[in-house]
Amino acid sequence: MTGSESFDCSNCGHRVTGEAADHIGWCKACRKALVRRSGWLAMFPAFVVLALYLWMLDYFELWNSTFLIVFMALGLALAYVAFKVARRVFFDVIRARGVKPPAS
Ligand SMILES: [Zn+2]
Repeated sequence: MTGSESFDCSNCGHRVTGEAADHIGWCKACRKALVRRSGWLAMFPAFVVLALYLWMLDYFELWNSTFLIVFMALGLALAYVAFKVARRVFFDVIRARGVKPPAS
């Protein structure tokens, strides 16, 4: 034991000091790259859900509804849920495949 916290990241393989590994041994930089990538990818399913929802509003001709604001809020909530779920799924998928080691 050296006293300072140090480990080998199980993704990039770098020797990391001064920070704690997460539960599967990834360093902060790798984890950040993973979170960013899954966040970007999750935008797509969220967008698709929102588009489908808007299409549905259009299909049922709800644009002139008194409750349009409620429908819009519901649509955004649905897209948000889709985003959260997709981000979680992508997070696990990308994590299982590993991310490219950060340049720095
Ligand atoms: Zn790493």
